[in-house]
Amino acid sequence: MEIDIQLTGSPIAEKICPPISGDAAGAWVEFRGIVRGDESGQSIAALEYEAYPEMAGREIQRILEMLAAQHPCLAVKVIHRTGIIPVGDTAIYFGVAAPHRAEAIALLAGFMDRLKQDVPIWKRRTVPINSVGDDVRSLNLAPKKLETPCVVSYKSLDEALAEIRSHCQPLSAVHAPLTEVFGRVLRETVFAPEDFPDCDRSTRDGFAILQNDASGQFQVVDTLHAADWRPRQLTAGQAVRVATGAPLPGENLRVIMQEHVERDGDRIKILKPEAGLNRRRRGEDVKAGTTLVKAGARLDAGKLALLASAGCAQPLVSPRLRVCHFTTGDEIIPPQQTPRPGQVRDSNSILIRGLLRDFSCDVEQRHLPENFDLAKSAIGNRQSAISGADVLLISGGASVGDKDFTRVLLEWLGFEIVFTQVNVRPGRPLIFGVRGSQVAFGLPGNPLSHFVCFHFAVVTALSRLIGEERSGFLCGKLATPLVDEPCPRETLWPARLEHNGAALRLSPLKWSSSGDVTCLLETNALIRVPAHQGSIALDATVDFLPTMDMMVGG
Ligand code: AMP
Ligand code: MG
Repeated sequence: MEIDIQLTGSPIAEKICPPISGDAAGAWVEFRGIVRGDESGQSIAALEYEAYPEMAGREIQRILEMLAAQHPCLAVKVIHRTGIIPVGDTAIYFGVAAPHRAEAIALLAGFMDRLKQDVPIWKRRTVPINSVGDDVRSLNLAPKKLETPCVVSYKSLDEALAEIRSHCQPLSAVHAPLTEVFGRVLRETVFAPEDFPDCDRSTRDGFAILQNDASGQFQVVDTLHAADWRPRQLTAGQAVRVATGAPLPGENLRVIMQEHVERDGDRIKILKPEAGLNRRRRGEDVKAGTTLVKAGARLDAGKLALLASAGCAQPLVSPRLRVCHFTTGDEIIPPQQTPRPGQVRDSNSILIRGLLRDFSCDVEQRHLPENFDLAKSAIGNRQSAISGADVLLISGGASVGDKDFTRVLLEWLGFEIVFTQVNVRPGRPLIFGVRGSQVAFGLPGNPLSHFVCFHFAVVTALSRLIGEERSGFLCGKLATPLVDEPCPRETLWPARLEHNGAALRLSPLKWSSSGDVTCLLETNALIRVPAHQGSIALDATVDFLPTMDMMVGG
């Protein structure tokens, strides 16, 4: 069967010649899919279609060959238009020649069923009537060039960050026990329920006496341990034996250290006068009603101790994030295997796992075959993990190569693609998609790009989802010059951040390609180098993004 497939940004001709000449054909069946003026009950002026042309062409070819085995036909012509298509225009043309009408109609029906399901051509958006005036044909609808490998939406770094922030909203908070909330974000402000300490307490093992008692000798009238409390009015010359931390039996008392007295039965004599009162005053640490930990704080060990002290045993916190991570690439092998020529050990899985560690996540990881159909069926078996995930990450296949199917896979899963490239180095191919409250990233497979994209993009999303206000870029000074040729893209340059007194000093690290792994050894910051900048001098002030190790407990 002759197959002719065209993807075009131009209008499809009103009249198309039969796809075969000669007299073998007994039937020629034509079909046109026309853009309707109504989309989900809304009047529209046009529809915008996007395609992944190379992959779409291959899929159409595959489907037609498969159907031709069941319904032998002579020739097929498929023309799919992409870009903005006004209402009334043809979006898809299908013409098939066959010896009899039955095969032609069966092939047409079979093809149209599979087209929507399997071919990476999708409705990008509807164009409402009022957005373009009455006649969409009056618009300059420049036809998209067929050789454009895919409709790419470039973003600058700032635009990409703004898009991610605007598409990620904090997930609903949950109450959870203190033992489970390390690393999560507190989503309520917690106040001191009572004064800390709740009464005057001794800071020494010794004897409590009246603060102004000048007696030289005392009678020990009681003993109080940390767990005891009995009110008692002391008079001059009376003392109460107290242990460190014990509540004092009244106010305006002080404690004489036991090392400074001589005891004889229930009598004591002060050997060495003391200036210190050896007590903690009620409320001296914090008064009842004072803010202890603010909503938005990341819970580290210290803050958890504070919540425990305040009796906040089930704080309101961000939920555990559920992350589903797929690696791609038939060359990728597990770390324990010895690579054959061309094979690459998987370092991204453990990288992602480590980077996610500080986000209190449940992570599910799996490798996908590098074939759209096989990947779809592998994913089909994981649908519940995907539907339950807050974040979907796909490593590799984010670019526009022959086998790069991340974008189509996300489309197939129903994600709306927000952007496909960010104008940074390393790591330009970066796909961001949303499906309801779920977000997905297609990360470039190279380890350094992976690391960089995770830090500026995925961390931004995760922080938003857990309701954390992250400071983002900070300012520091270069400890050594940054030497580079001017680059038209912004660069996030791997660097070593050191604290030098109060100053943050950054040493740019050596890297030459987004495939480098060794600079990950030292990298704990990414210097933001403006586009066209070139080298930066020693001591210059630069913006930088701290990486996860520096952010822990932030
Ligand atoms: P891709 O983004 O799929 O074009 O991959 C770019 C480069 O990253 C290729 O050299 C891959 O072999 C490499 N790569 C992809 N996935 C991984 C991974 N999981 N671990 C290490 N390298 C990878
Ligand atoms: Mg790949």
